[in-house]
Amino acid sequence: MTLEKVYEQVVDRNPGEEEFHQAVREVLESIEPVMEKHPEFVSANIVERIVEPERQLIFRVPWIDDGGEVRVNRGFRVQFNSAIGPYKGGIRFHPSVYLGIIKFLGFEQIFKNALTGLAMGGGKGGSDFDPKGKSDNEVMRFCQSFMTELTRHVGPDTDVPAGDIGVGAREIGYLFGQYRRLTNRFEGVFTGKSPEWGGSLGRPEATGYGLVYLTSEMLKDHGESLKDKTVTISGSGNVAQFALDKCLEMGAKVVTLSDSTGCIYDPDGIDRDKFEYVKELKNVRRGRIQEYAEEYDVEYEDRGRPWKYECDIALPCATQNELDGKDAQVLLDNGVMAVGEGANMPSTPEAIEIFQETDVLFAPAKAANAGGVSVSGLEMAQNSQRLSWSFEEVDDRLQGIMKGIYKTVSKSAERFGDEGNLVLGANTAGFMKVAKAMLDQGVI
Ligand code: NDP
Repeated sequence: MTLEKVYEQVVDRNPGEEEFHQAVREVLESIEPVMEKHPEFVSANIVERIVEPERQLIFRVPWIDDGGEVRVNRGFRVQFNSAIGPYKGGIRFHPSVYLGIIKFLGFEQIFKNALTGLAMGGGKGGSDFDPKGKSDNEVMRFCQSFMTELTRHVGPDTDVPAGDIGVGAREIGYLFGQYRRLTNRFEGVFTGKSPEWGGSLGRPEATGYGLVYLTSEMLKDHGESLKDKTVTISGSGNVAQFALDKCLEMGAKVVTLSDSTGCIYDPDGIDRDKFEYVKELKNVRRGRIQEYAEEYDVEYEDRGRPWKYECDIALPCATQNELDGKDAQVLLDNGVMAVGEGANMPSTPEAIEIFQETDVLFAPAKAANAGGVSVSGLEMAQNSQRLSWSFEEVDDRLQGIMKGIYKTVSKSAERFGDEGNLVLGANTAGFMKVAKAMLDQGVI
């Protein structure tokens, strides 16, 4: 079957799941040269198989709110591909979650995890539950109900979830606690745990730091660095905060942050003191980024996004499709030099096309944000050994992994005919590894 036919079949079989279609399309558009060089993948129908999840779970999550009322949400876990290791991928709690979002994220995760060089398959889960505005007790009761069902499907050698949007340290604690209570086993079934009880040092920092390591590697390859560059970042959650932290360390000036209600622009730069304020605002008080603008008397735009502000480097770190063709054009007109994707699929296909037609350096999410899952892989290794490594050891390994990913992806782009096209590089390198494993393991 041609790649175009496979895509049509995916659209037919998964109606209404636009984000999933978009993620599949991007990969299929990249792998044509792989299929030409590897007819064995064609005859084994690897592509038809890889776009179909191994297992999709959808379940009811009933819980009781603080007013005593019974509420019902929908839970998901898509176990997409386990050819190179146990399913691995985060859990997202956000009202926009439906099967199509979880499938897009699970599908991307397969190739990203392959790029890390660690033994992890791809999966993703979540719920349309919104933790915003809920009390800690409500979040706990929801997590316990969610985990009551999920427990039977996961395990340290089967499927190891982690956090994502709306699932941070607090939620992982409640989810892990319920798993332990139901199974009577203390084992590495989640990553992103607190270092006090089995988590890896450096895991909270890993996605944001990894993004900046990879972006800086890409800049270095073109005779540039982050020093004295102006950076715009979207989001103000886990990935955005630690990307900001590492940018500061590397001597860059970060001028924006955002959340789902708006965007702040601080032309003087968000320094260490202001960063402390952001962490307290977002992680402790769980407030809105607008308060930053009030505190420091800077510009705030309701529903705004950071892409209209002048910058050298843009790091989208909030959510999917948050940077469209128009935004890409404005970034370009303002002289952007590089874009590194911290979020999953933050740039629309039109935006990516604009970057690729020009000399903007573009690091796609599968490579750029793989630091999080890499350190999750290291957390699994530490859990298996019942050891914990120092922050420095984890961070050193993370830097090595991100450099390795950049090299793998660049080489693969060259091999398949378009040097510097890291989208092609990430998709082909990730696909090759999983496709070979699937071939070796027969028709399953
Ligand atoms: P968080 O929940 O910690 O932060 C998400 C941030 O993005 C918040 O500032 C949030 O604002 C904002 N946001 C969420 N949804 C929207 C929306 N629809 N429109 C505008 N802003 C939005 O999540 P993470 O930082 O963990 O995740 C951010 C991105 O990075 C996601 O795409 C995730 O899949 C990806 N990622 C995360 C990894 C990790 O290790 N955590 C690993 C790899 C990728 P608000 O608070 O108002 O909701």
